[in-house]
Amino acid sequence: MSERQRQHSLVTHDEHDDRHYGAVHVPVYDSSLFTFPSVAKMDRADIEGSYIYSRGNNPTVNELERKLALLEGGERARCFATGMGAISAAVLSVVRAGDHIVCVNQVYRPARKLMGNYMRRFGVEADFVDGSDLSAIEAAIGMKTKLLYLESPSSLLFELQNLKACVELARRHGIRTIIDNTWATPCYQNPLKYGVDIVVHSLTKYIGGHSDAMGGVVIGSEQLIGELDRNELILLGSVMQPQIAALIVRGLRTLPLRMERHQSGAIAVATYLETLPFIARVRYPGLSSHPQHQLAEEQMSGYGGLLSFEAGLDREKLIKFIDRLTYFRIGFSWGGYESLVSLQERIVDPPASNVPIVRLYIGLEEPEDLIRDLKAAFQSTGFNDERERSE
Ligand SMILES: *Cc1c(COP(=O)(O)O)cnc(C)c1O
Repeated sequence: MSERQRQHSLVTHDEHDDRHYGAVHVPVYDSSLFTFPSVAKMDRADIEGSYIYSRGNNPTVNELERKLALLEGGERARCFATGMGAISAAVLSVVRAGDHIVCVNQVYRPARKLMGNYMRRFGVEADFVDGSDLSAIEAAIGMKTKLLYLESPSSLLFELQNLKACVELARRHGIRTIIDNTWATPCYQNPLKYGVDIVVHSLTKYIGGHSDAMGGVVIGSEQLIGELDRNELILLGSVMQPQIAALIVRGLRTLPLRMERHQSGAIAVATYLETLPFIARVRYPGLSSHPQHQLAEEQMSGYGGLLSFEAGLDREKLIKFIDRLTYFRIGFSWGGYESLVSLQERIVDPPASNVPIVRLYIGLEEPEDLIRDLKAAFQSTGFNDERERSE
C-alpha cells in the first residue's frame, strides 16, 4: 500500500469498533468530568486509564489525537486549543532557564515573538538564522543550545530546511528539534520519519479545513509527549474542547481530497502568474523555478494551496489590485474552502525598503474562475501585460 493510500484509508475508514454503538462519526462527549461507581474504582482511575476530567483526557479529543498520531507516524499526539497553544507548550517542554534556542528566520511571527521576546523573561535566549543555510544553523549552535526550531516550508516565502541534515546536525550537538508542519500537512510531509523530535500543527488551517474551528497538536514519542502532557498541557490548560475535536475529525475525513484540489488549483494559478511579465517572482515550492524545488521533491510529496508573488514596489497599486478581486476574500489565515488574499512584506535591511508580497490562498473554487478574477483585477489596476494585449 502506498503512503497516500494508507492515509486515505486512515482518515476515511478507520473506526470499526464497538465502543460507540456503531456510530460512524465520533460522538461528542461534552462532559467536563467523569464519575465512578466506587471510591476504589476512582483510586484506580490512573492505572486503569479511566477518564477523570476533560482538561486531562476526553474521549472525543483522544480520538482526534489517535488519528493525528497515526497520520504523522508518531507514537502519541496531544491536542490544544490553538496552534499557538501547541507551539508554546512544545517549546516550554524542551527549554529551561539559561538555555538557548536556534530558530529559522521565516518562522510564524507569533512563534518568533514567543521565542525571541517573551521567553527572555524566563532566561531563555534565541537566535534566528537562515534555515536554508546549514552552516548558518551550525554556527548559531552554542554550548547552551537545547532546541532547533524549524518551519518548512515557511508560510510567506516558502523557504525549506533540509530536514535530514538538520536532524543529523541537531543530534550531533545533542539538541532537540521541533518543526511546525502546518503548511505541508501530514499528507505531504512526515518529519518524524527524518528523526525530528516533535511535530506541531495548527489544526485551524488545512486539517480542520472549514474555517470554523481552531486547534493545535503536538506529535512525537511516547516519552516526549507524555512529559508535555503531564506538564504544559495540564498546567497551562490550553486544551481542546470536545465539540471542536469532533469538527476537526470531520474535517480530517476529507483532508487528502481537499489537499489534492488545493494543489491542482495552486499549480494552475502559479503557472498563470509566472507567464505575466510584470510579476517579478512567484513563490511556490511546487514550481520548478523555486530555488529549493529539488529538496522539496525529495522530502515532500505535495504542495497544497498557499503561494505568494512579488510585483514591484508600488504598494498602493497592489492594494488597488487586491481591493478589485472578487473571488479572493481579503484575510489572513488559510486552509478553508475559500480563497484568500493578503498583502504582506518581505523584510529586508534596512526595513524602510521592505518588499510588498501578495499572498494567495487557493481554496476549493474552480481555478479558472480564480484566474479570471486575477486577470480582471490586474487589468483594471493597470498592470501592463503585453503578452495578453498582443493576443
Ligand atoms: C496559523 C499558524 C499557526 C498558529 O495557529 P493558531 O491555530 O492560529 O494558533 C502556527 N504556525 C503556522 C505556520 C500557522 O500558519
